[in-house]
Amino acid sequence: MKMIIDDLKQEENKYSLDNIFEFYLKITQTLPEERILLDNKSKEKYSRTTLAKGTTPCLIVKPINKNELEQIVLLANEFKCPFHTISTGKNWGYSDACGLYDNQIIIDLGLMNKILDYNNELGTITVEPGVTQGQVYDFLKEKGDEYWVDATGAGPKTSIIGNIAERGFGHSQNGDRFSNVTDLEVILPSGKFIRTGVSSFENAKCAKTYKWGVGPSIDGLFTQSNLGIITRLTLWLQPKPDDFKVLLFLLKDKESIHPFLDATRKLKMNGTIKSVVHIANSTRMLSMTNFYPWEEMNFCKPLSVSKTQEMLDKSKSSHWFGSIGMYGTKAQIKADVNIIKKTMKDSKSVKKTILIDDNKLSMYGGLLKICNRLGFFKELKPLFNKLTICCELLKGKSPENCVQGALWGLKKENLPKNLSSGDPLDYKAGLYWISPLLPMTGHDLNRMNSAIEPIFHQYGFDMQQTLSMVNGRSLASVLTISFDKRDQTQTKNALLCHDKVFDILFELGYIPYRLGNHSMKYMKLQKKENKEMMNGIKSLLDPNNLFSPNKYIPAEEF
Ligand SMILES: Cc1cc2nc3c(=O)[nH]c(=O)nc-3n(C[C@H](O)[C@H](O)[C@H](O)COP(=O)(O)OP(=O)(O)OC[C@H]3O[C@@H](n4cnc5c(N)ncnc54)[C@H](O)[C@@H]3O)c2cc1C
Repeated sequence: MKMIIDDLKQEENKYSLDNIFEFYLKITQTLPEERILLDNKSKEKYSRTTLAKGTTPCLIVKPINKNELEQIVLLANEFKCPFHTISTGKNWGYSDACGLYDNQIIIDLGLMNKILDYNNELGTITVEPGVTQGQVYDFLKEKGDEYWVDATGAGPKTSIIGNIAERGFGHSQNGDRFSNVTDLEVILPSGKFIRTGVSSFENAKCAKTYKWGVGPSIDGLFTQSNLGIITRLTLWLQPKPDDFKVLLFLLKDKESIHPFLDATRKLKMNGTIKSVVHIANSTRMLSMTNFYPWEEMNFCKPLSVSKTQEMLDKSKSSHWFGSIGMYGTKAQIKADVNIIKKTMKDSKSVKKTILIDDNKLSMYGGLLKICNRLGFFKELKPLFNKLTICCELLKGKSPENCVQGALWGLKKENLPKNLSSGDPLDYKAGLYWISPLLPMTGHDLNRMNSAIEPIFHQYGFDMQQTLSMVNGRSLASVLTISFDKRDQTQTKNALLCHDKVFDILFELGYIPYRLGNHSMKYMKLQKKENKEMMNGIKSLLDPNNLFSPNKYIPAEEF
């Protein structure tokens, strides 16, 4: 035991480790040893990060049910040990499985992974934190494929609840995931359980079907916060449509995105476009199926204009590539597609549209296989793979192979031939997502990009960008800084670039929809009155300030 505590004390100290020993002794009476991890190998595993620097926990506990979790939280309070929680801990590019500080207890909820309820009349599913999006997809298939779940591009092994706790978004018509959840069960940092929505009353019949409840609506308090651990929630599903198609589009050139946005946002507002429209710029799109051409670029970054064009031409792509999921009856889809195509044509911004469905995709796939075997059209394979990913995603299946999009900063010789792992950490990939929100106007996008693109280039990075129409009025832009963690200069520059871009975004008013560990400091810029109010709530619910201190709610001294 002495060895353990000495070992713990050697670590960099943000929080006192004095009481961890007591916590450890007590928790072994509740959890078996194999679910209390404090060996260096486990701690290293949980401290792995895509960011420039991760944090190391003092120990990791893995409850399998609410009772165990309650004991952990109560003991952490008794011994004043700070703790952080993860659902599957794959918050890549933002925080991975790390807390904000070293020496916190990580509560890994991955083993609380039951689907608690499925209602095929009302289209709801109730899940625990460890339930993954792949698990829900498979479950719904097994249950007869009556409903589809929304999927993100993060892969099948990422959680529903961890993603929603960060208000992440997917691609389908339920892509704004937080708008489609209700009835959260939460354990407060002091150890009490509460329910949100109408479930705050006994015997509420609409617990899973009505979001707001009566009285103040409090769901939001438990996302992007440090006010409680979500132990279950109910997600609304999308009924499987009669017909499904994907409308893909390529824009004419880099500037075409501005008239495109101005022309199409009304279609999102009036419901003609139902899914999240997802648009990727050239380097983001190229990264999905290509590696950075280091040699041809004389080991320099960013990608030159001429090389970008050459690679786009080769993959039959263009500066912006987007997808829209079309759901409805055959007649509805036909009518909607006609309206969208006409609007696109009138905007003079679109080079090409492709309407695909499962039948076309399998036909193209078959033909391409034959051609490729004969040595023709090999260059079309990446485009075909992209089409397949779009199609699957919009039907709720998160692709296994999206990880390549996070490897643009890496040299091919440092990567295995077969990218069998979906985890960017397995490739030592460095990754920052920067996710500003902007009004959906061409003017705003132009204003933002003109200010930040030179910063990416100054630090030697491509500005990889996606734009998601999460509603009819706002765009969520996700910018990637992709770097190689083996390279110290790149890693240092990535953080400098990240901070500089953040400074500019806040100056211009394009506030990110979500933050990571390295950007959490920007919460300090929130208005004083808001910070005071949130601090008041925090001290009420977590008087010892133990749960994820400073995560989204900065303490006054932070
Ligand atoms: C290639 C690639 C594509 C990606 N695509 C997307 C995308 O399309 N959309 C998207 O949103 N993200 C995307 N991501 C980012 C990220 O990987 C996902 O958001 C992922 O779902 C987050 O990991 P997780 O589900 O394991 O959450 P976790 O890491 O478990 O949780 C994230 C954070 O939420 C909080 N939290 C977790 N569980 C709880 C709980 N039970 N109660 C309270 N708070 C909790 C904690 O603060 C935790 O740090 C992508 C990443 C990569 C590399």
